[in-house]
Amino acid sequence: MTLRTTTDFLLYQWLDAESLNQRERFADHSRETFDAVFDTCERIAREKYAPFNHTVDTQEPHFDGEKVILPQATHDAQKAYAASGMLSAAQDYDIGGMQLPYTVEAAANAFFAMASVSIGSGMLTTGNANLLMKHGTPLQQEVFARHEFSGRFSGTMCLSEPQAGSSLSDVVTKATPDGADFEGDPLGPRYRLKGNKMWISSGEHELTDNIIHLVLAKIPGPDGKLIPGTRGISLFIVPKKMVNEKAELTGVRNDVALAGLNHKLGWRGTTNTLLNFGEGKYPVPSTGSGQAVAGAIGYLVGKPHEGLRCMFHMMNEARIGVGMAATMLGMAGYEASLDYAKNRPQGRPFIAPTLRADASSLPPEGAHSTLGRPGGGTGLGGKDAAQPQVRIIEHADVKRMLLAQKSYCEGALALELYCARLVDEQHSGTTESADDARMLLEVLTPIAKSWPSEWCLEANSLAIQVHGGYGYTRDFPVEQYWRDNRLNMIHEGTHGIQGMDLLGRKVLMEGGRGLALLAARINATIERAIQLPELAQHANDLGKALQHVGSATKAAWATGKPGDALANAVPYMQAFGHTVLAWIWLDVSLAVLAADSAKSTPAAAGRLGAAQYFYRYELPKIAAWLKVVETRDQTCAELPEEAF
Ligand SMILES: Cc1cc2nc3c(=O)[nH]c(=O)nc-3n(C[C@H](O)[C@H](O)[C@H](O)COP(=O)(O)OP(=O)(O)OC[C@H]3O[C@@H](n4cnc5c(N)ncnc54)[C@H](O)[C@@H]3O)c2cc1C
Repeated sequence: MTLRTTTDFLLYQWLDAESLNQRERFADHSRETFDAVFDTCERIAREKYAPFNHTVDTQEPHFDGEKVILPQATHDAQKAYAASGMLSAAQDYDIGGMQLPYTVEAAANAFFAMASVSIGSGMLTTGNANLLMKHGTPLQQEVFARHEFSGRFSGTMCLSEPQAGSSLSDVVTKATPDGADFEGDPLGPRYRLKGNKMWISSGEHELTDNIIHLVLAKIPGPDGKLIPGTRGISLFIVPKKMVNEKAELTGVRNDVALAGLNHKLGWRGTTNTLLNFGEGKYPVPSTGSGQAVAGAIGYLVGKPHEGLRCMFHMMNEARIGVGMAATMLGMAGYEASLDYAKNRPQGRPFIAPTLRADASSLPPEGAHSTLGRPGGGTGLGGKDAAQPQVRIIEHADVKRMLLAQKSYCEGALALELYCARLVDEQHSGTTESADDARMLLEVLTPIAKSWPSEWCLEANSLAIQVHGGYGYTRDFPVEQYWRDNRLNMIHEGTHGIQGMDLLGRKVLMEGGRGLALLAARINATIERAIQLPELAQHANDLGKALQHVGSATKAAWATGKPGDALANAVPYMQAFGHTVLAWIWLDVSLAVLAADSAKSTPAAAGRLGAAQYFYRYELPKIAAWLKVVETRDQTCAELPEEAF
């Protein structure tokens, strides 16, 4: 199975993506236009990304004192991506977009993520420009967003600071009005920013003419002090190079300086930077006096103090993007380890039970196993060393590791595409269905971000295991996939923060409406599946899991104390995520069985096998996770620091 056969099945047989074409916004599209986009993306990913994934890992970005140097391959890939139109795929025709459904855009981007996740920096640029399309003024959209969509400029998101990561309320970057006429600038109210931003992806490079930073900073209150908490945070456009109203570079460099590059475990094709704003390295002339002074020029986006609300627009998209990246790294490892397992001869099969009935062929008690060792004679389990070796894919335990990867990664891909389909519903559905989609996305976004980050990373670990010692070397790609994927549990809200968001906020929002909507969808799948003998047992198991999640949610909050509930937010998120994935697999299985012609194909057997694996080996794990949740176990919370 290729990625394309999997996405085709999920989009056309399961999600009925073609039906989106009946909506006015997508009326010009058809399966043919969607397929043409996939053909192009598959080709660019194959030619410009995949061959250079190892190159960008070994030729890390470096600073020559003036510029950040990246491999030529990154420049070429970036150009090809921009030329494909993918940066503005979902945008309106009149700003150069293709008006593609987000579902199709997300599926098309999967090809790039699988080929080389760290070459692609399109996600941030598109997210940045999309945010401006929602919250920026028409001129900000024209000058900044439009040129990001064309690939002339690129974008970043600057939230984190050295002392403020998970806790953005502690941001101290300061924005003060730039002169008396600061509100008169056509590009937006003009401020001077001073502060340091840490971990900024794609914060410095020469890939584009300009870099458009979206920066969170605080405008001091009337007493000159920063307003505590997230309430005080505003959002600013800070271009690396100053531009005029026609989006032309003015030749003046803005006061944003690279303080250093971070040297990362993985994802090395993308620069990661510490940026100093407003320290005077590149003083910018004042509008009034014309005198060059320290302070990075930033144009306010939206209203003062509403920065985080605006930024969430970008963060939610970014979270689905992170989930997709994690998924595709898992998928890349799965394909590599599947290929390896089909070719690596090692060990021998068990001798048939009838032969083993002869007790004399068993080793004496206490003897060492000689399993699989050449020349070891007949070992425990009655293996015959005189027989030729088999390929490792013939061993049940290797199949277990492959099936685990398949169930994690194909399940996660289905989940991400389902969420992308909800985004389309939110933007183009009826008022009621759009609102339901919004609410479902609230609940599912922490899962869409975190579940693949944890389990597709586990898939990468299993891919290394399938390779044995070779997997632990740099001669095979799987160690890089694991290193690249290790990031995803950290950025865009750590695992712990996502767990607290889910249990502490999302399942409680609007009186638990998101959870109720999700439960209704899961129950609808159960009702259909229970009719089919092949799926009835899974349907029953899912019903019980759903009830268990519901009762554990109530039990976690029974005392009403956040400390009691949230001490086990991550185990809760793991159980919740596994239940969601079990639902996704059941729903996908219904589509497999509905496609009569496909029922007996290897692809169908693989999908139903992965679903069965998930129900038998994975779903039962939720009992252990939910036990500590429902008893509000305080083992971790209460252990005194000195006891560690
Ligand atoms: C490669 C890379 C790229 C990045 N790209 C960007 C980017 O482009 N833009 C940007 O703004 N940021 C970016 N980040 C920053 C990233 O979002 C932060 O690293 C992340 O939010 C965590 O912040 P921190 O590193 O300060 O860790 P901390 O917040 O110090 O967290 C450390 C640990 O403590 C836990 N923890 C913290 N607070 C709590 C709490 N209240 N309750 C329970 N546990 C808690 C966390 O879960 C984590 O396990 C990037 C990071 C990396 C590594």
